[in-house]
Amino acid sequence: MSKSIKARLYVENDLCAGAEFLLSGNQGHYLVNVMRLKAGIFILLFNGRDGEWLAEIVKVGKGKASIVVRDNIMAQRVEPDLWYLFAPIKKARLDYMVEKATELGVSLIRPVLTERTNLDRLKEDKIRAHAIEAAEQCERFTVPTVEPMIKLDKLLMAWPEDRLIMFCDEEGDQDPNCFSVGKAIDEVNAWQERPRKWAILIGPEGGFSPAERTLIRQQANVVPVTLGPRILRADTAAVAAITLWQSFAGDW
Ligand code: SAH
Repeated sequence: MSKSIKARLYVENDLCAGAEFLLSGNQGHYLVNVMRLKAGIFILLFNGRDGEWLAEIVKVGKGKASIVVRDNIMAQRVEPDLWYLFAPIKKARLDYMVEKATELGVSLIRPVLTERTNLDRLKEDKIRAHAIEAAEQCERFTVPTVEPMIKLDKLLMAWPEDRLIMFCDEEGDQDPNCFSVGKAIDEVNAWQERPRKWAILIGPEGGFSPAERTLIRQQANVVPVTLGPRILRADTAAVAAITLWQSFAGDW
């Protein structure tokens, strides 16, 4: 974001030259009271569909800013389609993990309830707010979809057959059939005529139970991978796995 632009915000509105709308609530507060922007200042807007637009603040009020959309700066970019499935962990690390997954380009985030999930409480609207904030900051053109939490067995029962699950198995290191992320992707691409859609599954701090590990590995579309000989924290594993996927199959 060039230094003259003071803010980049995600909006639901359609974006086209001349479109006018009011930013109120948290966004109006942020522009007017936090950033103290005045009429005549330009900001960047994106909505996940129409690319990135330069927009002018034409009037400010009490925690509100009237906006007129001016010019299209960047066309909408096709971004990687990687789902991120995770067993919720403690709140602070969970916020961190959602932010990193968004910066690293996942297209969908879904909490998965496993036997050892230590769940205080999960606020999906907070997860979405973190994802939006991270998407604004890292200059993505979309915001990841945040799906409601689902139990592991229900997730697997209704799994779409056109998408593979990269099962990050903390015990995978001792399993000769468990490859590194890169090798697993190369193997799949070798026996598939076209690249497949992927999801990454990361367990809770307590790991997957033996019964869950068996249930997951029984699924047709599951590709177990190891993230090396050390046991990573769930948020570390998320960053490592998504990074590796991006470098082998994403847009890096
Ligand atoms: N407490 C568990 C580890 C859980 S780590 C134990 O001590 O065994 C949380 C999650 O991160 C795991 O369920 C797994 O999905 C992922 N993970 C951590 N280290 C990993 C590794 N070396 N290989 C693959 N996945 C790993």
